[in-house]
Order: sequence, then C-alpha cells, then structure tokens
Amino acid sequence: MDLWYTENHTKDVKLSLRVDKQLVSVQSEFQRIDVFESVEFGRILTLDGYLMVTEKDEYIYHEMIIHVPMATNPNIKKVLVIGAGDGGAIRELARYKTVEKIDMVEIDKAVIDVCKEYLPQTSCSLDDERVTIYYEDGLRFVRNKVDEYDLIIVDSTDPFGVGEGLFTKEFYGNCYKALSEDGILVNQNESTFYTSYSNSMKRAHSRIKSFFPTALVYQAHIPTYPSGHWLFGFASKKYDPRTDLHDEWWNSLGIKTKYYNTILHKGCFAIPNNVRDELRENE
Ligand code: SAM
Repeated sequence: MDLWYTENHTKDVKLSLRVDKQLVSVQSEFQRIDVFESVEFGRILTLDGYLMVTEKDEYIYHEMIIHVPMATNPNIKKVLVIGAGDGGAIRELARYKTVEKIDMVEIDKAVIDVCKEYLPQTSCSLDDERVTIYYEDGLRFVRNKVDEYDLIIVDSTDPFGVGEGLFTKEFYGNCYKALSEDGILVNQNESTFYTSYSNSMKRAHSRIKSFFPTALVYQAHIPTYPSGHWLFGFASKKYDPRTDLHDEWWNSLGIKTKYYNTILHKGCFAIPNNVRDELRENE
C-alpha cells in the first residue's frame, strides 16, 4: 500500500512525503492535530493539514528562531514564547543557563499533550523548571503586559485561523509595550516565494516596522516549508543583530548546533534582491 501525506503549497504546487502510518489524530477545540511516521523525515506534526514540524529538519527552524536573538544580547533573562506547542523553541532556549524565566503561551493544550507523547525530540524541555505554560490566546495574554520581557518569540501557525491575531498591528504594539527598553521580538515571518505567503510576510513586516526602530528579516533554508526559503522577523528597541552579535560569548557557551553558527548569524541577514524589493515596495 502506498501512503502519502500531501500539503498544498499553492493551488498548483504540492509537497508529498511517503508515510508508514498515522500515529494519532485529534480534533481539538481549535484545530485538527495529526502525527504521521514518514519514511524520509521521521515523525511529522500537522495542524489542520499544514506541516508544522518534521523530526528531520525541525532543528533549522528552532535553532534560527532562538540563537539569533540570544547571541545578540547575552543579558536576556526573561522570555515570552507564544505558540510553539511542539516545544522545539523551548528546547533551544532551555540550553541557556543565563535564562531565568520562560513564559509560554499556547492556545491549544492538546498540541502540547500530543507532542509530549509523540514528539519527545522537540517537547523534551517543556518540563524545565523555568518554564510556565499558559493555555491562552497570545493576543490576549500580551495586552496587559508592560516592560516584562527581554525577548518575545512568536512561534505561531500561519496568519489564518487561531494564528491570525498574532500577525495584527494590535499584537505587535502590545509586544512592544511588553518588552524591556532593550527588548527583542522575533517572529516566524513566512516566505516571499509564493504570492499568498508573500503578502502576509510584507504586511507583518510593515506592521512591526511601525513600532520598532530596528526591523529586519533573516532567512533560513527549511526543506519542508513552502518554497524551502523561510524568513524570520527580528525587531528590536536597541540592538542591531548584525553589529551587536556577541560571537565570542556565544561560542564560549559550547552550545552544539547543527545549523546555526555565528558566521551564519551575520550572513542570514544578507537577503536576496527579490525579498528586499518586496519589502521596499511596501514602504
Ligand atoms: N513551526 C511552526 C510553523 O510555523 O509551522 C509553528 C509551530 S507551533 C506548533 C505553532 C503553535 O501556535 C500551535 O501549536 C498553535 O496552537 C499555536 N497558536 C496558534 N495561534 C495561537 C494564539 N493565538 N495564541 C497562542 N498560540 C497559538
């Protein structure tokens, strides 16, 4: 029997992975959650049919969403992570002894329960004593926070359904308020290759730019995401990640990574012309 998981990247483009079996399928209050055992990419988590995480390439996304801001400011102690139910971002953050407090806001407890059972590779640090999990909407959670965090990570689903609010102007404005005077906001910022993703990426970037003096995007190659070319937003009240990189400090920590390094840190902000043009177009 031939079993395949297929995701439509556009109405004319699909990504298909051969799967051995489906391990679990849950319909939560918010979304449908599935885990499959794939042949090439190991276990894969999908939400409403969209691929979130594969065991084979998740390290790229999680290392890039965490180590880029962490290497920019060694004094990050209080972190808010929004979304991230698979736990991969928390796993990378928990590797820093310097981090004292991690608040995680995930709207859907069922994602965490499924990942704890079926994806130990990413969920392994969710029980770290510095982590407090709030099962709430991230949009509401940040509304009343002022000067509480040194870093906010938005590890959300795409800008539709439950994730929609995490791409709004209201949300980014509240993140600005919730951050300390040298705070950093990093968000998953979609991709520019296909028009549908490109529009949401441009919108998110210009909204963030209206609040933060520094608003950049950086890139990574993520094989299972649409087009394989993915962007993250880096916004900051004070730091420029290209010039404020603490490479000696970061390398002295001895954190073993498979994708991120401090040379790549500088390079990932060198974005191709088509992305630069799309961002300028929006200004
Ligand atoms: N790396 C992933 C990607 O971009 O494909 C995202 C991973 S993580 C599984 C995304 C999480 O964000 C999901 O578990 C989802 O439940 C959560 N989420 C979506 N909207 C949210 C909201 N408004 N507040 C808090 N969490 C939210």
